[in-house]
Amino acid sequence: YSAKRSERQQALYHENEVTDWDRHFIIHQHLNKAVELDEFRLVFQPVYEIPSQRLLGCEVLIRWNSKVLGPVPPDEFIAVAEVSGLINSIGLMVFERSLEVIRSLQALSNGALKVAVNVSPYQLKNRHFYDRAVHLLANNPELVEALELEVTESAAFVNSEHVTQLLRGFKAMGLRLALDDYGTGSTSFMSLQQGAFSRLKLDKRLLYEAMADHTKYLVIKAAIDSAHSLGLEITAEGIETPSQYQMVLALGCTAVQGYLFSCPLSLEDFTALFQQKNNALMGHVAQH
Ligand code: C2E
Ligand code: MG
Ligand code: MG
Ligand code: MG
Repeated sequence: YSAKRSERQQALYHENEVTDWDRHFIIHQHLNKAVELDEFRLVFQPVYEIPSQRLLGCEVLIRWNSKVLGPVPPDEFIAVAEVSGLINSIGLMVFERSLEVIRSLQALSNGALKVAVNVSPYQLKNRHFYDRAVHLLANNPELVEALELEVTESAAFVNSEHVTQLLRGFKAMGLRLALDDYGTGSTSFMSLQQGAFSRLKLDKRLLYEAMADHTKYLVIKAAIDSAHSLGLEITAEGIETPSQYQMVLALGCTAVQGYLFSCPLSLEDFTALFQQKNNALMGHVAQH
């Protein structure tokens, strides 16, 4: 695309920035249509309690297979949706479908189940999403105990009293909140002390760094110990190898997800796994 740009534009931007901006623009152009055509589907990554290796539930992850662009990863299009405001309709769709999934899984078994749904801070700032979510939960109180919201701390809500209030509102309804992507920069330990969160999700990059660097390992261990003393559960994401698993056990993490255990599954496959959850020990690493 950059070849089509005027020399003036070429001069204004570095090559990489032009490419990123074009990609952003192209995704933006197709995202509206994708919402209309409903080109999204949800996948479900199993989450295991450790060291028991008991299946706890799953994290809901969105997938977009665009007719025009092919598969577009959420890290790319969620950021675009946040800027364009489309995150509100996409996020509400994910939320509503996740409640349906909880309902269908609860009908199969009354065993423990936690379904984690990612919520962008931009969604939280949108009154419509918040009111609709509160309304749905108030009308379906039996779904609340199975639901967990994952919020990524970002520039959008650092020091935002408004977002903190909304999170407290959810918490008052009995909803559990997880702080996602802990260790990726803007996260401060202070937001944990505000008391809204019951779970910390360590970002995979942080764990990979801890594998490579013992000083980093010790810093992360200290952060995890403090989080424990605040009563938080700790999930380690992105576990791909047995040695990473050994490390997160030593760090004191209480739950894991990652390709070592299972990649994200279709609803059908996750449902089958949930049904045999009593025998679902770690030895049975799910088929990819
Ligand atoms: P996240 O919430 O931190 O999700 C974890 C990501 O790690 C997922 O990427 C998952 O597929 C990936 N993952 C799981 N196991 C492994 C592993 O062993 N190794 C590696 N390298 N990766 C692993 P995914 O699905 O591409 O999602 C990326 C991000 O997009 C998510 O990060 C989340 O921030 C966002 N996202 C995904 N679905 C939604 C959604 O429905 N709503 C919102 N607002 N954001 C979403
Ligand atoms: Mg997440
Ligand atoms: Mg994460
Ligand atoms: Mg994230």
